[in-house]
Amino acid sequence: MILGLIEHDRGALSPLSLQMLTLGRRLAEQLGTELHAVLLGAVARPLAAQLAAYGVATAHLADDARLDDWAPEAWAQSVVELISAHGPQALLAAGSERGNELMAHVAARAGLALAANCLEVEPGEAYTIRRMRWGGSLLEEARLHGAVKLLTIAPHAVAAEPAAAPAAAAIREFAPALTEREFRVRVARRVAPARPGVSLADARVVVGGGRGVGSAEGFAALEQLAGLLGGAVGCSRAVTSVGWRPHADQVGQTGTRIAPDLYIACGVSGAIQHMVGCKAAKRILAVNTDPEAPMVVQAHYAIIGDLHKVLPALCEAIRAQRERA
Ligand code: FAD
Repeated sequence: MILGLIEHDRGALSPLSLQMLTLGRRLAEQLGTELHAVLLGAVARPLAAQLAAYGVATAHLADDARLDDWAPEAWAQSVVELISAHGPQALLAAGSERGNELMAHVAARAGLALAANCLEVEPGEAYTIRRMRWGGSLLEEARLHGAVKLLTIAPHAVAAEPAAAPAAAAIREFAPALTEREFRVRVARRVAPARPGVSLADARVVVGGGRGVGSAEGFAALEQLAGLLGGAVGCSRAVTSVGWRPHADQVGQTGTRIAPDLYIACGVSGAIQHMVGCKAAKRILAVNTDPEAPMVVQAHYAIIGDLHKVLPALCEAIRAQRERA
């Protein structure tokens, strides 16, 4: 059995889990075994129906309301109990912040090896994996040993793809023995984002600004363009360092990984630490005064010019085109 750990936020399924399940299903097919999933929390029960489309034969559900919200030690202990009962060949989770944290707990509690942020997985006596290191600036090939292989799958390494033939996703309940000790780390309070709107990680279009924007006020032009395109505004670390934008807007190694259809990078030089955050973008348009800037060299399209002139002209052209349509 290949077991996929489903990440959800109080019952809202993480799309990264569907990417992980897609890789898990291919692995199960190669090994001639079934794909199962773990659902934690009473609120997770309805998710089983969505998992069927991705080829999940059985969903193991811990119908315990204490697991409804994120509690890494309690989630990990539940998973450890499940893997010791069923002995799957591999346990997979999304390589999200939560997925990596949770699997580190599982690995430590179960005494198993974990390979994080995998891009490709080749099964065998030991699994051969290719994974991202140093925020994606280095690819590493490694061998993973262990009775149960623990893997997290790098976000956007695999596109989520439903199975050709959906499975049953029959629910099988289990009741992990959890004490108060497992709930030492849990969500105490939630703070809504200061500026609601399309989230950077999920946006189909991101308009990013770098030091070249020149000021906090300069981002008004980027907001306008993002608004016209239904996108989100991102920025480089140079921008968050001087306080023009909050850290939540930062794209990169120490910020958010984005995967939009289009990333419009304005006045961003394209440092490696920025590029690892936007390399999953399907198309990049660079707006930069420097034709030699790494962002320009790596982008699919580039406009060489002053963003303060280019962006208003772009907004104007989009509005004019919409009026004509
Ligand atoms: P600059 O490198 O100064 O580039 C500004 C660009 O704007 C230039 O290309 C210039 O030609 C152009 N420009 C100037 N004026 C205009 C104009 N009027 N019109 C058009 N273009 C113009 N960086 C990140 O972004 N994200 C991270 O997560 C991140 N993590 C890091 C982690 C570590 C450990 C370290 C050491 C660094 C990290 N950095 C990160 C910083 C990174 O190395 C760069 O310093 C940073 O990305 C540079 O930001 P920038 O491109 O906005 O600025």
